[in-house]
Amino acid sequence: MTGHVIVTNGLTKRYGDRVAVDRVALTVRRGEVYGFLGPNGAGKTTTLRMLLGLVRPTGGEITVLGRPPGAPDALARIGALVEGPGFYPYLSGRDNLRVLARYAGLDDVAVEAALELVDLTARASDRFRKYSLGMKQRLGVAGALLGRPELLILDEPTNGLDPAGMADMRNLIRALAEQGQTVLLSSHLLGEAQQICDRIGVIAAGRMLTETTVDDLRGESTLVVRGEPLDTARSVACRMVGADKVSTVDGMVRLQADAARSPELIRALMSAGVTVHEVRPGERTLEEAFLALTGVGLDDGTETTP
Ligand code: ATP
Repeated sequence: MTGHVIVTNGLTKRYGDRVAVDRVALTVRRGEVYGFLGPNGAGKTTTLRMLLGLVRPTGGEITVLGRPPGAPDALARIGALVEGPGFYPYLSGRDNLRVLARYAGLDDVAVEAALELVDLTARASDRFRKYSLGMKQRLGVAGALLGRPELLILDEPTNGLDPAGMADMRNLIRALAEQGQTVLLSSHLLGEAQQICDRIGVIAAGRMLTETTVDDLRGESTLVVRGEPLDTARSVACRMVGADKVSTVDGMVRLQADAARSPELIRALMSAGVTVHEVRPGERTLEEAFLALTGVGLDDGTETTP
């Protein structure tokens, strides 16, 4: 078990008839940034709350830092930002952290260190209510970082941030990772996870679809074809790479193929009589990655028939 900071097996949570988390097996290794990825309602928050001992599982096993979830000695080594951070609006960022530090039995040195880590020292005397959303979120992370916990659990740390704030948060998490911090974060943005995570677990409708490295997920390059007739374009693509590697999205044909194959593809399309408007390398959206993985739609986690 060494090297594994979190291990779950068959982790399940039911609310009445509804299975929010369905036999999830998850492993987070020491020193990695692990992205727990899935659409809204997929079961991410419920899982994170179970890891922290805030929600009792219906079934399955959890080990966090070698202990059952919620064990006080393990919790002391975990920093978490799961609900939005509750801070006092009229206190400064620094004083808010001091309040948290007192609860945790930490001194002001820990507060200053945490402020430094999230790059808020210069604004630490400003009142919380004056902070931008990004600063509020960074203060939340600072709170989770008090005392330098071994494991950081962050639920949607970039949620609600503007692009600049998101980039700041990504940089912060990467910087922490470079210092050896283990981070488990949830996100519904594949692009974001690709930029900060070493490994990713993909969850939809309560089920873990895959646990993989970002490189593997990224590995599949695609080509997108816009042409008419679409059916013929699709047949050509299927002949070239096999039907299981072809999908039709938004009136375009998308195939898993390296960009280097586009001349070959264009020739094949033209000789089949397809009017080719466009062939370009495709960037997979999370939705497409999900579809490619499983045929499960993303938006609301409901099943679609492929
Ligand atoms: P989001 O990003 O929207 O929070 P999520 O992936 O974190 O999504 P969860 O919040 O874990 O998803 O919710 C998973 C499912 O469990 C949802 O269908 C939700 O409605 C349901 N659920 C969560 N908490 C409860 C609860 N206390 N009672 C009943 N159902 C719940």
